[in-house]
Amino acid sequence: MNEPAAPRQLVLVGGGHSHALALRRLAKTAPPDLRITLISPDPLAAYSGMLPGLVAGHYDVAESHVNLPRLCRARGARFLAARVTALRPDARQLVLDNGDTLNYHLLSLDVGATPDLQTVPGAADHAVPVKPVSDFRRRWQDLRATLEDHRGPLAVTVVGGGAGGTEMVLAVARALRRRGRSATFNLVTSAQLLPGAAKGVRRRMAQRLAADGVTVLEHQPVRRVDAGSVETDAGPLRHDFLLWCTGARAPAWLAASGLPCDENGFLRVEATLRSPADARVFAAGDCAAFPGGLPKAGVYAVRQAPILARNLVATARQRPLKPYRPQRRFLSLLSAGDRDAVGSRGPWPTLSGPWVWRWKDHLDRAFMARLDASDEPPGSP
Ligand SMILES: Cc1cc2nc3c(=O)[nH]c(=O)nc-3n(C[C@H](O)[C@H](O)[C@H](O)COP(=O)(O)OP(=O)(O)OC[C@H]3O[C@@H](n4cnc5c(N)ncnc54)[C@H](O)[C@@H]3O)c2cc1C
Repeated sequence: MNEPAAPRQLVLVGGGHSHALALRRLAKTAPPDLRITLISPDPLAAYSGMLPGLVAGHYDVAESHVNLPRLCRARGARFLAARVTALRPDARQLVLDNGDTLNYHLLSLDVGATPDLQTVPGAADHAVPVKPVSDFRRRWQDLRATLEDHRGPLAVTVVGGGAGGTEMVLAVARALRRRGRSATFNLVTSAQLLPGAAKGVRRRMAQRLAADGVTVLEHQPVRRVDAGSVETDAGPLRHDFLLWCTGARAPAWLAASGLPCDENGFLRVEATLRSPADARVFAAGDCAAFPGGLPKAGVYAVRQAPILARNLVATARQRPLKPYRPQRRFLSLLSAGDRDAVGSRGPWPTLSGPWVWRWKDHLDRAFMARLDASDEPPGSP
């Protein structure tokens, strides 16, 4: 009698939005001989839409993070707590930070991106990057712990005037206000505030920033960072806490793998989310360089999830793949510190106020409920 064939390994690297959502469909449709392993260094994956709310004090960690081991258990997948440090496509092998190697038949990458700390001297030594979120959370807790000993107003500088930086400076302002701390805030950006956002969104967020006492320095690239100050063309800015929310950088091991990457090191994919050079490697979310380019935004990672799952299963079953077609317009909701938000969709008028925050809160909680596998029996799709 023939031995049954060994199971094939589908390895998902990173617990980002795409993988967390794709697991449900994979559990339902993957062939029975495909074993699924998800690797992430952190068992908790932050949901970016709720991250400013976590800092502002609207949510706790459990509400704003996906519990990856629990999700994997419910979806019949294995969770491996490790960080991938190298990818060897020729050997179909991953190297982990504990020195182990892991072989795969099929690989999917959803490892996100981190703020770029390399291009400004001193930034890597003195700034707190907003990602990885687990590191940011620890540094933010450290800051809160030292607040009691701090005399005088606290000086906070946030570098990066995109959605992340703008939401975060308002969230930090709200958090310090709740603790009765007086503070000064600078938001420094090399471009204009919220480039790419609708005019109405920019105007209303600028109003919120002004009302919270945030000084916005537009078109001011940071030239150097020292302990306690950043150097801009307008002069030095002193800080006690420096948060870095600038443009995204890819994990270096993606480009080191030899697979085609874009000029910023993000893995090139075809419209099917598959590497053009390796039919066994897929990528989604921020770490993927989609044809024609896409903004690094969670909405794309979310919408790519069903196509990613579908195409991974199609590859395992040797069936044709489907392309992902990015939506041209989507609802964008920015939180504005207090229970207040600003929203827009395409050419429609900008909305703002507490009811927009309640709407955003409802959508964010509904999203997390899809990933809360706590009441599902193991293996149930
Ligand atoms: C403050 C803030 C607010 C934001 N708000 C919004 C918003 O409202 N709407 C929106 O669309 N976008 C928003 N974004 C952007 C959004 O965060 C990203 O676009 C989104 O998180 C990308 O999702 P992803 O699936 O690519 O990866 P991520 O969510 O970044 O997840 C990547 C995962 O991979 C894991 N990982 C990383 N390296 C490795 C490794 N080597 N080995 C194994 N695992 C690894 C990480 O631990 C992490 O769990 C915001 C960003 C910030 C900073």
